[in-house]
Amino acid sequence: MHRKKSLRFAIAAAAALIAFAPWAMAQAPPAAPFVTHQLTPNVYWIEGGGGNSAVIVGDKGVIVVDAKTTPPGGKELLDDIAKITPKPVTTVILTHSDGDHVNGLASFPAGITILAHENNKKELEAALSAGGRGAPPAEHLPTQVVTKNKDSRKIEGVKFELLHWAPAHTTGDLVVYLPDQKIVFTGDIIAMQLPDPLIHLEKHGSSEGWITTVKGIVALNADKFVPGHGDVQTKAALQKRLADATAKRAKIKDLVAQGKSLDEVKAAVDPPPAPGRGAGGGGRGGPAFPTFTEVVYRELKPGA
Ligand SMILES: [Zn+2]
Repeated sequence: MHRKKSLRFAIAAAAALIAFAPWAMAQAPPAAPFVTHQLTPNVYWIEGGGGNSAVIVGDKGVIVVDAKTTPPGGKELLDDIAKITPKPVTTVILTHSDGDHVNGLASFPAGITILAHENNKKELEAALSAGGRGAPPAEHLPTQVVTKNKDSRKIEGVKFELLHWAPAHTTGDLVVYLPDQKIVFTGDIIAMQLPDPLIHLEKHGSSEGWITTVKGIVALNADKFVPGHGDVQTKAALQKRLADATAKRAKIKDLVAQGKSLDEVKAAVDPPPAPGRGAGGGGRGGPAFPTFTEVVYRELKPGA
């Protein structure tokens, strides 16, 4: 009986993985208009066209965090930066390898420095060799990789800490912290379009690593947290998100230990799905992501 049940769930889980696989490299949220927000005299974030981007104006050049979804989006980002400063973009830092943060790089000038976590570069190279729609731009792969969990450096006279605690949203996450300005760019470790953490298991993200990472983020001496999607968050908002996810993960773990099925776990911890929505709640017209509940369940029962 139990064995039969396991097999049935194995088939269901495999089918779900196959169904979800195509968006992994290619999909992006629907385009939203670009809006520039100023945080300090030299630090901005620009929403629209995919993931949020940060713009940090240094002594002689500009540092950009994340580059939008498409080449036209990347161009629009550069046009908006030109309205802020005449200084050239010299460096791009990537928070992770998803196309909605990377693929606009195709419009960026040749010869700039592109910084990413070493695992991000591996994911981009794998996506590039897989090819197809949404593959990253071959001419703009990372030129420098971060291998340490804390990489402190000055770029264009601005102090940066590039941080990685554990695999969270992906295995190549990089959190960008400006200690002097007390600002953090989290990438999609914090993605406000979803109530729960968004974890890409196919990129070896981890719910436990997410908790470790967000504990690290809220311990930083910072008061503005720019997420990968959505508005600037306070530390209290992130602490609430961390507490909610930690409690939900513990509850799922208990239910799995009791031998509950994925459907039973979902019924116990998730609100009923809204009509017309994909199971993953990827949003109207957006990709359907596996939910946090599904991710944690698969992590805890890898062979299920
Ligand atoms: Zn994103």
